[in-house]
Amino acid sequence: MTLITLLLFWLLCLLLLWGWKSALLRKTWGEPYVGSLAVLLESDDWGPGGEFHQTRFEALSALLLRHTDSQGRPAVLTADMVLSVPDTQAIRSNGYAEPIRCYLDQGYQPLLHSFKDAMQNGTLVPQLHGIEHLNLSALTRLGANNDARVSAAFNEDDWWDWETLDSPLQGHYVDGSALPTTPLTIEQTRTLVQDAVDAFQRIFGIPSISTVAPCYLWDEQTEQAWAAHGIRYIQTAGYRCPGRSGDGTYQQDLSEIRVGDDSGSGQLYLLRNAMYEPVDGRKADGCLVQAMRAYRQGLPVVISTHRYNYTRSETECNDSLQGLDQVLTQLESNHGNCRYLSSAELGGWLETPEQSLTSPANQSTWPTLKRLSGLSKLRAFLLRLWYRHAKLRVVAIVTGLIIPGVLVIGTDKLLGVQTRDG
Ligand SMILES: [Zn+2]
Repeated sequence: MTLITLLLFWLLCLLLLWGWKSALLRKTWGEPYVGSLAVLLESDDWGPGGEFHQTRFEALSALLLRHTDSQGRPAVLTADMVLSVPDTQAIRSNGYAEPIRCYLDQGYQPLLHSFKDAMQNGTLVPQLHGIEHLNLSALTRLGANNDARVSAAFNEDDWWDWETLDSPLQGHYVDGSALPTTPLTIEQTRTLVQDAVDAFQRIFGIPSISTVAPCYLWDEQTEQAWAAHGIRYIQTAGYRCPGRSGDGTYQQDLSEIRVGDDSGSGQLYLLRNAMYEPVDGRKADGCLVQAMRAYRQGLPVVISTHRYNYTRSETECNDSLQGLDQVLTQLESNHGNCRYLSSAELGGWLETPEQSLTSPANQSTWPTLKRLSGLSKLRAFLLRLWYRHAKLRVVAIVTGLIIPGVLVIGTDKLLGVQTRDG
């Protein structure tokens, strides 16, 4: 086969590929492509906690303050806030007649003070998680029925941690008191969201324009309620689950969410793509591999790291801090264009990429992120196709299209070898 024949063969393959997958190729090319190493730390479940949470959070904030990006900006935690816990003693005292909350600014002032200090020094941007991390009406009803699953909540006089609840009971925008979960009425959802945005504004002095649902359980009606209250960006793990089935399985109604996708309810989706959950065995090395894979595809690196990594035993907390230090050091040192930002700012960049970034917490402004274009964008585009679609990988190998593909991308990037320019 002469070279000309081979080139004609590849051209024919590309035409057939276009005929087969043009919608996918167009959509993938139309996605956002970021040229900076944009690093976001998304941390769920902050909010009311034991007194020791304050020192744990302050140690985390101090670590973030020691890390700065290429613009001199400190590393910033987008902390997904739970705004209240049930006042279980008060609920019990009134005979379970009504759900009663104890808010972050009522019983947890020292911790809130630390959060506000971190907002000022630039290491924390709070984001709405939920007014609580459970469904309070369901919890109260179970308490009235002396259900064993909530007896600790209503019978312990000391600090009770909602994280000890059975997993189905931790969902917020569903009733998980029995499986399968029951959807809320539109009025119930609207009330939860209305109360949450009001409380968030009162507690932090700013609105939350982005959110992530507790347990990743939410539906279209939740999105509409968020939209009605100015929430424009929804953090996801790549799917949407409106409920759980009888055996507890999460039911997806959207299974392939990409960063920048339109929710259909007036919001943009964001996407977590790297896990730093060392308490669950997802440690620094694995997180860095995921982070660099996202970066090579021109995706913002959104690292998930829950509160519990920092609020369990002191040893676990210290190990988590040490590993996070390693992740951030590596991201900063290997690349001259590391940029820290919060999720709300990433949402803003997706909407208006030319505008400077502004922290919602302290109003500091930072240059906008770089965008990929030309050959750099083509490389990232090909890598998205390669990583995401097994069938396209087979086609590339069988037809030999992998050869020109590798020439465009570079073998180092295809194989995931880290280089100075990523
Ligand atoms: Zn959560």
